[in-house]
This record gives sequence, C-alpha cells and structure tokens, in this order.
Amino acid sequence: ARSDDVDDQFSGRANGGRVPLGLKTKRLRVLVTGGAGFVGSHLVDRLMERGDSVIVVDNFFTGRKENVVHHLGNPRFELIRHDVVEPILLEVDQIYHLACPASPVHYKFNPTNVVGTLNMLGLAKRIGARFLLTSTSEVYGDPLQHPQVETYWGNVNPIGVRSCYDEGKRTAETLTMDYHRGAGIEVRIARIFNTYGPRMCIDDGRVVSNFVAQALRKEPLTVYGDGKQTRSFQYVSDLVEGLMRLMEGEHVGPFNLGNPSEFTMLELAKVVQEVIDPNAKIEFRPNTEDDPHKRKPDITKAQQLLDWEPVVSLRKGLPLMVTDFKHRIFGNPREDTG
Ligand code: NAD
Ligand code: UDP
Ligand code: UDP
Repeated sequence: ARSDDVDDQFSGRANGGRVPLGLKTKRLRVLVTGGAGFVGSHLVDRLMERGDSVIVVDNFFTGRKENVVHHLGNPRFELIRHDVVEPILLEVDQIYHLACPASPVHYKFNPTNVVGTLNMLGLAKRIGARFLLTSTSEVYGDPLQHPQVETYWGNVNPIGVRSCYDEGKRTAETLTMDYHRGAGIEVRIARIFNTYGPRMCIDDGRVVSNFVAQALRKEPLTVYGDGKQTRSFQYVSDLVEGLMRLMEGEHVGPFNLGNPSEFTMLELAKVVQEVIDPNAKIEFRPNTEDDPHKRKPDITKAQQLLDWEPVVSLRKGLPLMVTDFKHRIFGNPREDTG
C-alpha cells in the first residue's frame, strides 16, 4: 500500500537509512501511549484527521477499544496492546506519552509513571523522536500559591495516599528534563488540569463523571467534605488543541493546560443540576485524605508562547458529554462513542 511505502521511507528502512529530506513534512508518524483512554482517543481523532500515521500503545487498564474502534481498518492506524512498563521497539517521529492510570481508584501501586516514562524516553532517544509528557496539576500538591504558575515548586506529601501519582509525575518530569539535558532529546511537558468530556471513565471516581452519572441514574450527587474545595474544569477539545500546539511549537515547558474558571464542588453540582436534572439531590460524604483545597491554573505562559487558551465553558461543555454518558449507561444501539 502507498501509505506503507511512505512509512518505510520515513524510517529510513526503504533506502538504507537515508531519510529523504522534505518527506517528513508530508506525513508524521505519531505514537500515542494511552491512546485508547479518554484524552488519548480524542487526540488520536485529531491526528488522524490531520493525516498522520498513528500508533496507539495501550494495555486497556482504564482505556477501551471502543474509544478508537472507528479507526480500525484505516491503514494509517495501528493499535498495539502493550504495557509501557515493558520495553518496546517502534519507529516514529513524535511520542505523546499519556499512558498512566489516571484516577485514584486505579493508580495505586502502579509503576507506570516512572518505568513507563523511562522506557518511552529511551525509545525517543534511540529513534530521535520528539517526546511530550502529559504531567498534571497534581505536581503542585495542595498548593500554597494560588493560582498556580509553572515556576511554583508545589506542596506535595511524599508518603500520602495520592503520592504515587503526584510524585510519580514529578519523577516523570525529572526524567524528561534529564533526557533532554543529558541525551539531547526534544521534549515537551504539559501540566494538565482537571479535564472532562465524552469517553471519560464512568466509574473511576472523578467528580465530573461521578456527578453526571449520578444525575442520569437519579442518584444523589456525592459532594465530598463541605464542597467548598475548588477545581477548574477544562473541556477535552481545548486540552487536545493545547497538547498539539505544544508538540508543534518550540518551547519545552512546562505549560499549564487548563481552564482558569474556578468552581467549588457545590457550584459544579449546581451546574449539573441545571444541565441534567434540577431535582437531583446533594449528599455530603467524608472527604479523602490530602485533598487539595484549591486548584486553578495561571495560563499566561501558554497564552503568550503557544497562543492558546480554552474556549469551551463548563455550561457549554457539560451537555456535550451527556449524550455519550446516556448511551454508555443505558445502552446504545449505535455504539456511538462521541
Ligand atoms: P485514562 O485513564 O482515560 O487514559 C490513560 C490510558 O493509559 C488508558 O487508556 C490506559 O489503559 C492506559 N494505560 C495505563 N497504564 C498503562 C500502561 N502501563 N501501559 C500502557 N497503557 C497504559 O486517563 P486520561 O484522563 O485520558 O489521562 C491521560 C493522561 O493525562 C494521563 O497521563 C493523565 O495523568 C493525564 N492527566 C489527565 C487529567 C484529566 O483530568 N483527565 C488531568 C491531569 C493529567
Ligand atoms: N527502551 C525501549 N525502546 C527503545 C529503546 C529503549 O523501550 O527503543 C527502553 C530500554 O529498555 C530502557 C529504557 O528505555 O529500559 C531506557 O533506555 P536508555 O537507552 O535510555 O537506557 P539504558 O538502556 O542505557 O539504561
Ligand atoms: N469529589 C466530590 N464528589 C465526588 C468525587 C470527587 O466532591 O463524587 C471532589 C474531590 O474531593 C475533590 C474534587 O471533587 O475535591 C475533584 O476530585 P477529582 O477526583 O475529580 O479530581 P482531583 O482531586 O484529582 O483534582
């Protein structure tokens, strides 16, 4: 097939290692680890739309084949079941490294952030690919500075229940910068703030998915603690735009990618009531340990250097995930994953 020929020329296999200049701009080969997950699958959609050749590596720990099923059969798309904790040999131009058990229910005891990131950096080094790490606002811990600027070093408990995630991502950032400085690989770091949208895991315990699923199931919305803690919620298409601008741009980062509109959990519950069910009840539950009190990104750096800012408000974005959640909760004849 024609696409295969082009791929071979890119990797240099077709002409004894000489990559023809100029060809690279025609079609990029992009690896998305965690590409069957929530954010990853939306990113894959955009890359496929752009005409790239996309390889997804995912162990389906929290991701689902359904999220990328619409690309199966396309010669530019490849899906590999693989755990990034194990080494892998591939030839690509860019690596978006998203693989990570991203919710408190899933991330405990998992070395993906450290060992998986090391392997993907080793891969990037061997093939000279550009590497983008999806880090998290959790690197700021329970922040003593508000809103959080990229230069803030954070307030993280190294031995708490959330530590393997926070500290895992902090270590992943360190490894990324070490490979950049030591091995000269091109890297990009995104610090992602709370993101929501279609294809979010329904039962992984995050607040937006919990509230939306609860409202649809006519169950009470579970507000933890007094509900006065804040978060800033970003719609997934805004994040994907930011990730792609970061990858294509010239700046290493780290960059905060998030929506600066801040809501308390009680305010979020009110928006969910407005959008889905005005009769939904609110039920208070004890909060989890080490829950950050406030979180809101300062996105000045991304605005200035990436010319990026979110455009979808919570009231516009929430309804966009309701159709997908309804289908997945109550059954869906058309298998439409949104
Ligand atoms: P997700 O759970 O939907 O996606 C993660 C994907 O990685 C899943 O498909 C999962 O199966 C896969 N995966 C996990 N461990 C793996 C392993 N060892 N090998 C191969 N694949 C593996 O979560 P998401 O929300 O899409 O998050 C994507 C990335 O963005 C993560 O790195 C996460 O830390 C980061 N992030 C997300 C948010 C958010 O609000 N969604 C916030 C901050 C950071
Ligand atoms: N690695 C990989 N694919 C590659 C190259 C490396 O998975 O194409 C893994 C490799 O197995 C190692 C990690 O990446 O565990 C770091 O590789 P690097 O070459 O930087 O370190 P070294 O192997 O020299 O310790
Ligand atoms: N939360 C809540 N009800 C829920 C789930 C979470 O009130 O059903 C709260 C949680 O205590 C936290 C906030 O919502 O203060 C965001 O939690 P999430 O797990 O979504 O994201 P993170 O804590 O990682 O920002």
